[in-house]
Amino acid sequence: MTGAEAIRLPGESEDPLGEDHDTAAPGLVHRYPDRVLFLTTGTCATYCRYCTRARAVGNPGGEYQFSPRQWEQALAYLEIHTEVRDVLLSGGDPLTMADEKLDWLLNRLRSIPHIEFLRIGTKVPMVLPQRITKDLVKVLKKYHPLFMSLHVTHPREFTSESREALARLADAGIPLGSQTVLLKGVNDDIAVIKPLMHGLLKNRVKPYYLYQVDPIRGSGHFRTNVEKGIEIIEGLRGYTTGYATPIFAVDAPGGGGKIQLAPDCVVGRDADDLLLRNFEGQIYRYPDPGGRLGAVK
Ligand SMILES: *Cc1c(COP(=O)(O)O)cnc(C)c1O
Repeated sequence: MTGAEAIRLPGESEDPLGEDHDTAAPGLVHRYPDRVLFLTTGTCATYCRYCTRARAVGNPGGEYQFSPRQWEQALAYLEIHTEVRDVLLSGGDPLTMADEKLDWLLNRLRSIPHIEFLRIGTKVPMVLPQRITKDLVKVLKKYHPLFMSLHVTHPREFTSESREALARLADAGIPLGSQTVLLKGVNDDIAVIKPLMHGLLKNRVKPYYLYQVDPIRGSGHFRTNVEKGIEIIEGLRGYTTGYATPIFAVDAPGGGGKIQLAPDCVVGRDADDLLLRNFEGQIYRYPDPGGRLGAVK
């Protein structure tokens, strides 16, 4: 802990995303129409100081309890909510659980016919790669389509051990995506983010999200201004492989969900021509008769 964590800035709170408000059953956040966030455990392999769920994790016996007994309530909700086709397992880090527990939960979820898509949010392959055992991979493989969203922060996380863990997951046919939180003084520089994105691709991970730090209490020293993320996207788009460019998103305080922010490439309109800016800042015309995009309102 650093002294800066004791500072609470305006707009910061314990649950900035209003997850507790969107909780449909204990540990189940149902915010979007067709998918849910399933909080499985309060344990992580590392505890991030900017964690959006710091209120709920790493605090055994606290207000938030995550246990198989509680999972039953979440499973009962999912069984009757046929609109849910996508379940994101998070926490805490689901891969800190024993193989048998994970197997049991994935099996229960897979037995619900309307659940098409499973994914696990985890930092384990980068920070506890020895957990990605052959036995664990054997469990995960049974439940395809199963995707994984990996929390990655810095190119230095690519060690021979983490690369081997990623290879095992990819070889098991698990599509891998990444999530990176933009952190001041850690990775808020294209000279860090670009090699990070390239490192992901080299390890068969598709960069998925780049996040603005949530306004969690005491996280101000990590927070960049929002334009920094857009600037980083501008430094990637066009300059490197399209697959290397993640979506930059702000998770809206109060439960609005993820909002994508991107460089504004629509410059305006000249009669039937739409005026667009390319990655080098040059303006191009695209014929778009009858279109309204770019018109002055
Ligand atoms: C991020 C998130 C999801 C998944 O969002 P995607 O854009 O589909 O990756 C689902 N539910 C909640 C509450 C989330 O925060």
